[in-house]
Amino acid sequence: MTLDAEAKMQFLFALRSKGVMDKRVLTAMEKVDRGAFITGHFAERAYEDVPLPIACGQTISQPSVVGMMTQALDVQPRDKVLEVGTGSGYQAAILSHLARRVYTIDRHARLTRPVRKMFEDMDITNVTVLTGDGSFGVPEQSPFDRIIVTAAAEDPPGPLLAQLREGGIMVVPVGQSDAVQSLIKVTRGPEGFEYEELLPVRFVPLLEGLGQE
Ligand code: SAM
Repeated sequence: MTLDAEAKMQFLFALRSKGVMDKRVLTAMEKVDRGAFITGHFAERAYEDVPLPIACGQTISQPSVVGMMTQALDVQPRDKVLEVGTGSGYQAAILSHLARRVYTIDRHARLTRPVRKMFEDMDITNVTVLTGDGSFGVPEQSPFDRIIVTAAAEDPPGPLLAQLREGGIMVVPVGQSDAVQSLIKVTRGPEGFEYEELLPVRFVPLLEGLGQE
C-alpha cells in the first residue's frame, strides 16, 4: 500500500473511531481530498485528525468534527443547505456530494475568491460561494432545509433560526470564543425549536461585518 493510501485509510478509521458512522457522510469524506484545501507545508498533515491553519488567521476544522457535524445535519439529497463560514471550502465540498444545492458564505473575500475558483476547476456546480456577514444568513435564498455554522456564536443567530424551514436542522457551535463550546443541534418543529447538545468543540468566533482584504 502506498503511504498516501495508508494515510487515507487511517483517516477514515479515525473518523469511525470518533463516532462518524453514517455511510453517506463517510463516502462523501472519502471522495473529498482534504489535501486540496490546505496550502503550504501543512498540506502534508492533511490526513491527520487536527485543525490546520488557512489564510486570514482562520482554520480548516478537525476532520472528525466535520464528520460529526455533517452526520448531525442529516442532509437529504433534495436539500438546500446554507453553510456559514466557508473557510477553506472543505466542508462545502463534502456537502456538495450530499445535497441538491449548497450556499456557503464567508466574511473574507480573500477566502471565498479562491474557493469559488477551485470549485470551478473541480467541476463542483451545485455550490454558490458568497462573501458577506453570514450571521444574517442569505434571506433571498431562504428557507433552508439545513444550516451549518462553522464558527462559534454566543447564541444561535436569530436570522439563521428564522431562515430554517419547518422540519429543518441547524448545527452550530455555541459559547464564548476563548472557551470550550458546545455543538448544538437545533430542530425546527411545528411548535418551535428543539435544542440538543452534542459534543464539546472549539471554533474560531463568528464575527460581525466583513473581513479586511
Ligand atoms: N468550514 C470551514 C472549512 O471547511 O474549512 C472552516 C471554517 S473556519 C473554522 C470559520 C470561518 O468562519 C472562517 O473562515 C471565518 O472567516 C468565518 N466567519 C466568521 N464569522 C463569520 C461571519 N459573520 N460570516 C461569515 N463567515 C464568518
